[in-house]
Amino acid sequence: MRQSNLFTKTRREAPADEVAKNAQLLVRAGYVHKEMAGVYDFLPLGLRVLNKIIDIIREEMNAIGGEEVFLSALQDPEVWKKSGRWNDEIVDVWFKTRLKNGNELGLGNTHEEALTALMSEYVASYKDLPRYVYQFQNKFRNEMRAKSGIMRAREFIMKDLYSFSKDAASHAEFYEKVAGAYEKIFERVGIGAKTYRTFASGGSFSKYSHEYQTVCAAGEDTIYIDSAKRLALNKEVYDDSEVYAVTGMDKKNLKETKAIEVGNIFTLGTRFSEALGLSYKDAEGKSIPVFMGSYGIGPGRLMGTIVELMADEKGLVWPEAVAPFSTHLVSLGQTDDEIKKMADALYRDLVNANIDVLYDDRDLRAGEKFMESDLLGIPYRIVVGKNTVATGAFEVVERVTGTIMKRSYAELLAK
Ligand code: ATP
Ligand code: MG
Repeated sequence: MRQSNLFTKTRREAPADEVAKNAQLLVRAGYVHKEMAGVYDFLPLGLRVLNKIIDIIREEMNAIGGEEVFLSALQDPEVWKKSGRWNDEIVDVWFKTRLKNGNELGLGNTHEEALTALMSEYVASYKDLPRYVYQFQNKFRNEMRAKSGIMRAREFIMKDLYSFSKDAASHAEFYEKVAGAYEKIFERVGIGAKTYRTFASGGSFSKYSHEYQTVCAAGEDTIYIDSAKRLALNKEVYDDSEVYAVTGMDKKNLKETKAIEVGNIFTLGTRFSEALGLSYKDAEGKSIPVFMGSYGIGPGRLMGTIVELMADEKGLVWPEAVAPFSTHLVSLGQTDDEIKKMADALYRDLVNANIDVLYDDRDLRAGEKFMESDLLGIPYRIVVGKNTVATGAFEVVERVTGTIMKRSYAELLAK
């Protein structure tokens, strides 16, 4: 892509009311636009990052047998009344609205109810199970505090996966598969080393659920990590003696830290299937409620977490797997025929070699271009200037380390 065709611009100042580092940088770099507190739009560069994260999650969900769907965000109150969660005292983040005829509707904050009701029309016998159904869908939550930028938005995309199993034992097996997929996802997007499987409170069926918590000072949660075991406890279960028996963790090995909940996995048991009439007939014809689990990841929260962890004083820094482009080609002389010819040719050859390249073909001062390039955080920068033309050696700068390498034309294309 040519940068002259990009409608977004970088800015020197972030919105005055924005306190989160992730949103400050993403707004300044033109990746996202802030509508109001907790409400963000994704612009071309930001959408490329978000989609790369989504693609990685999708690959890992498909690899464990997930089937992708896309449910409506509009929620029928009658379905939610069956589980008791239409009540604002039970779910305190509802956005509710009305049809013209006066009937109420909800904007979905999660999809257990809608999907369980839907599945009851497709699951009848043990032969129809198990099923693993997921989506990337907008959730609406009237969050109290929206001070963490895109990590806590009032409208956000969630990857929500739901499992429908015959019994607790087959559920437990799939639950561990999801845990494995989650670990791969966090590894692939570059936050694996700082992300801990964390015991948290579980709800009615299982005593504990698992959160995936990424250690970061900007996190809203407090967790206790055991780095040798690579496990952690959420503060909410820290004083529960049973959790130490279950995990083999020892209070004296734990270190308190702030963390960001990037995902979670949850055993629901039959809470929703019983409330919404999702059951199957076993081989003897006996009716049994389906055993469920739910598994969430917020791609936007992941993107914000990557920014919080990787950005430096010059701006954003993206790991290659999620970067909007792998390469930033910066030409320092659009008015100089020789430089322009060389940069144009390199751009064409990189594109033909299937390299994701953003080409800064604008006529701006070198200092300004470098400052912007640093802010955008693209992993590699190739510079074409007077020296390049004179020597045939291209300067390649690695954003994360600042390392400068010299490469010939042929070497660039071979990489
Ligand atoms: P939190 O305790 O941080 O509010 P939650 O327990 O409400 O999270 P879930 O309902 O389980 O989260 O949602 C699944 C995933 O969706 C979370 O792990 C997180 O990655 C993401 N998520 C939740 N709320 C938001 C939000 N307001 N903005 C962006 N992502 C979110
Ligand atoms: Mg929440």
